[in-house]
Amino acid sequence: MRVRDHIALSTTAAALLFPWLRGRVLWPWAASIVIDADHYLWFCVQHRRLNPVAAVRYFNQAQPTQHQGTRLFHSPAVLLPVVLSRSGRAAGLGMAFHVGLDAYHAARTRCARAAALQRDGFACQACGTQGAHVVTHLWRQPWLLSSYRVEHVISLCPSCHEAAHARKSGRPLSNSGMGSYGHDSDGPF
Ligand SMILES: [Zn+2]
Ligand SMILES: [Zn+2]
Repeated sequence: MRVRDHIALSTTAAALLFPWLRGRVLWPWAASIVIDADHYLWFCVQHRRLNPVAAVRYFNQAQPTQHQGTRLFHSPAVLLPVVLSRSGRAAGLGMAFHVGLDAYHAARTRCARAAALQRDGFACQACGTQGAHVVTHLWRQPWLLSSYRVEHVISLCPSCHEAAHARKSGRPLSNSGMGSYGHDSDGPF
């Protein structure tokens, strides 16, 4: 799930809880957003550069390498000790909220992608190649909060997928007048 979606959802949750928790919402709220810094730290270590623009570009590729290291703060090995510690519990609950949203997002996305592949008969909708290597591409997404509509997912072979991302306009077919903006990595941006 993207950072902007997390910010929107965490801020809404914090606003709803504020009448009861007051200032105590601050730590869980901040932790639920800052947790995504692991992706950025991983990128900086891997590529030895401190460049937010390069990081955003990297995670917006068609198939960015998803190494376990990109999700270090999301892993139970980091999460559990934080939640169980007395001083870190509030922040840990915020992080757990974040990881829960990510899991929900991943499950809904998987369903939409599987349905799109079925609909397209595992054939690239740009060049017609068929096979198990065909992947799915989100060719249209709202600016805020993901859509899980199957109509917004299209099947593409890896090279047409790369091309769709290089063009930035995700839709490979020119039969739609709708503006499109493909981005379907599981990266945070
Ligand atoms: Zn193709
Ligand atoms: Zn894509």
